[in-house]
Amino acid sequence: MAKARIGLYSVKGDTLTRTHKSCPKCGPGTFLAEHKNRRSCGKCGYMESGGATPPKTAKPAGKSAPPTA
Ligand SMILES: [Zn+2]
Repeated sequence: MAKARIGLYSVKGDTLTRTHKSCPKCGPGTFLAEHKNRRSCGKCGYMESGGATPPKTAKPAGKSAPPTA
């Protein structure tokens, strides 16, 4: 599940360039996972659409789950 955190930086000479966008909620240091049409934070669950397809939330809306009061 957890990917190795390599490839987040690309080093050009002595300059460290961020290739991934950092999470606006978690702040710099936490990077958003790059997907085809979106970016998502695996830490706080923040999602950002980066394409035409809206991101699907993982809400159990269709399931008839018993309400947990
Ligand atoms: Zn986050």
